[in-house]
Amino acid sequence: MARRGIADMLLDVRVAPPFYKNGFVLACDDTRQAALIDPGDEVLDLEDIVRANGLTVTHILLTHGHIDHISGLAQARRSYPAAPIHLHRDDQFFVDHLVETGHRYGLAVEPAPPIDVYYTEGMSIRVGTSIVVRPHHTPGHCPGGVCLQVGSPSDPSGGRLLIVGDTLFAGSIGRTDLPGGDHATLIRSITTTLFAFGDDAVVWPGHGAQTTIGAERRTNPFLT
Ligand SMILES: [Zn+2]
Ligand SMILES: [Zn+2]
Repeated sequence: MARRGIADMLLDVRVAPPFYKNGFVLACDDTRQAALIDPGDEVLDLEDIVRANGLTVTHILLTHGHIDHISGLAQARRSYPAAPIHLHRDDQFFVDHLVETGHRYGLAVEPAPPIDVYYTEGMSIRVGTSIVVRPHHTPGHCPGGVCLQVGSPSDPSGGRLLIVGDTLFAGSIGRTDLPGGDHATLIRSITTTLFAFGDDAVVWPGHGAQTTIGAERRTNPFLT
């Protein structure tokens, strides 16, 4: 697994067709405890990473409820029944309508298991001993989108690694034409919540390559 930025933390990413959405394994190197983030159609690849690295999955964390980010949720629940699934409550309706949404895309998707925990502002989720994940509500692409701020427990800033879902991409921003989307709200989430993490914060979007807040603030055509 790749090491990116934070000591004692492992982060690896996989994608799969048809959505090419980033699915993540985030693990504490000391305890080998891990979180799956946005398990979609690449979920079996994420499970391979877990197995190959001798990890124990303790959490399943969702950036939002769109089909491409949760299509592997039923499989993940079967493989890791003790890992609570986290989502923002405002995206519950996507989970409820997952199967029919799949039909609209011509996809057979398993019904989603129940969400175990709704994110609340200010909560911190401990993964092993070396990682804290803090959810920050960033609506606009969808009502319940969150940015997952990842850091070490000893970092007073809370961390400079951001897993942002489909709010912000390298050179682009999230679409706002799906149910509950709103362009002005999305721009506000990016410019107030995400920009506040500072230019050196590393951004992992839900699709495509990683970037930084500074690069997007300076060059993203939707934000300049
Ligand atoms: Zn989305
Ligand atoms: Zn997506």
